[in-house]
Amino acid sequence: MTRTTPDTTPPAAVFTTYSPSTGEPLAEHPSDGPEQVAHAVAQARKVQEGWAALPAARRRAHLLDWKRTLARELDTVARTIAEETGKPAGDAQLEVVLTLEHLAWAARNAERVLRRRKVGTTLFTVHQRATVEHRPLGVVGVIGPWNYPCYTPMGSIGYALAAGNAVVFKPSELTPATGVLLAALFDAAVPEYAGLLTTVTGGAATGEALARSGVDKLAFTGSPGTARKVMAVCAEGLTPFLAECGGKDAVIVTADADLDAAADAVVWGALSNAGQTCAGVERVYAVREIHAGLCERVVRRAEALPTGGEDAAYGPMTMPGQIAVVERHVEGAVSAGGRALLGGPESVRAPYVAPVVLTGVPEDAAAMTEETFGPVVTINEVADVDEAVARANASRYALGAAVFCRNGRAGAAIAARLRAGAVSVNSVLGFAAVPALPFGGSQDSGFGRIHGEEGLRAFTSVQSTTVQRFTPPIALTSFDLPAAARERAVRMAQALHRRR
Ligand code: NAD
Repeated sequence: MTRTTPDTTPPAAVFTTYSPSTGEPLAEHPSDGPEQVAHAVAQARKVQEGWAALPAARRRAHLLDWKRTLARELDTVARTIAEETGKPAGDAQLEVVLTLEHLAWAARNAERVLRRRKVGTTLFTVHQRATVEHRPLGVVGVIGPWNYPCYTPMGSIGYALAAGNAVVFKPSELTPATGVLLAALFDAAVPEYAGLLTTVTGGAATGEALARSGVDKLAFTGSPGTARKVMAVCAEGLTPFLAECGGKDAVIVTADADLDAAADAVVWGALSNAGQTCAGVERVYAVREIHAGLCERVVRRAEALPTGGEDAAYGPMTMPGQIAVVERHVEGAVSAGGRALLGGPESVRAPYVAPVVLTGVPEDAAAMTEETFGPVVTINEVADVDEAVARANASRYALGAAVFCRNGRAGAAIAARLRAGAVSVNSVLGFAAVPALPFGGSQDSGFGRIHGEEGLRAFTSVQSTTVQRFTPPIALTSFDLPAAARERAVRMAQALHRRR
């Protein structure tokens, strides 16, 4: 595999990755330090100048070449993801498919969204032609997580490149090979701009070096605790920062909802990828009338899932440390009076965790307030939709949410009351597959948006321009303006603004 960090700098120490399924070592990667990171950023800066100067159509063509290469190598990329994360091959393939959809959209829409456009003027500025343009920032640093090591960082990488930037990417230390492969496939597809996407590998120290490296923006995806640390480093250099953090997503199920569809979606949303999804389902609020029926359907589906073997519906926990968090949440929920409808603390059999379905868990238990990031879901009963909305909104996270409701329009009205960055009605995670939809959260879920038009603009700086078309009769920006003319202009403006 090609390593894209230039090797003219002194060799870095190495670290080893391990298979989450077997514990066997997978590969060794360099722990890049400040020197290697600085070199990668400097090289990226050189390549970016030519990339930014290209006509937008040429950038689009190059990015679509990369997309075609990724599509051709889909199985190789998916195999690397599956090896490093432990997720089933089919899930890894779907992750690559979703990535391709987003890359295609970013490549095809960047010119339309970012090109210079005319904006209106006012009575006093009618002599100006006013335009606004979104221009590349330069070099964007991207720090990624391990749970979707291709799809998630590509939500920043693909959009930043489409906006005319270079990217230096630091993947999670659990999934470096996926990051190295993405950059190698870019170099193979677009050799004229090799190095526009560079991967540096390592853990927290490498990420910190990237945050200090003078990149023009840092896009971070990971936990809120790490986001705070990285943001503090970015603050020292006034480096703009984008944070995509965790979630504690809620699903609301109304009395008239299709319970089979809701149960199907809840089970998939909570258990796929072993629950290690930022916008995965962790809390369900079901109204009294259908609570028992929903619980029964969720348990029936969850207990039928094959777990732990070759045909398992989901893989092992990718990060060994997370297993203790899952165990603490389940034990805490049960000892606080929650009822395990399926599984319980005994479901934790490292590195696997069998599905756990809980109910009646107090809202202040860790299982309801902290991100569990495991195959655990709580279905609590509520009196009505108002209570469901209040409970869903009571979290310090605000990333995604879902509503199940017979009538889509009524579901959308409930969605509008939710404090979440993205809501799906009658599906879960529906928003993640629509590239035109911006994605991101607020509070502990972070800030800023990736994907969609906002996701392209996130990696640009705005330049506003006025071009004077003719000399105005009253030139307000001149010392030559006679006092009487200024007075006339002021009174005219006053009269104008006193009207409704
Ligand atoms: P993490 O916070 O442990 O690490 C994220 C990245 O930050 C890794 O690359 C890590 O090496 C790096 N890092 C750690 N300490 C650092 C430091 N001091 N300075 C610079 N970089 C540092 O998160 P994780 O365990 O890799 O990922 C799981 C988290 O990511 C979950 O909270 C999940 O919800 C979240 N996530 C969010 C989204 C989203 O789009 N909102 C998507 C996927 C995952």
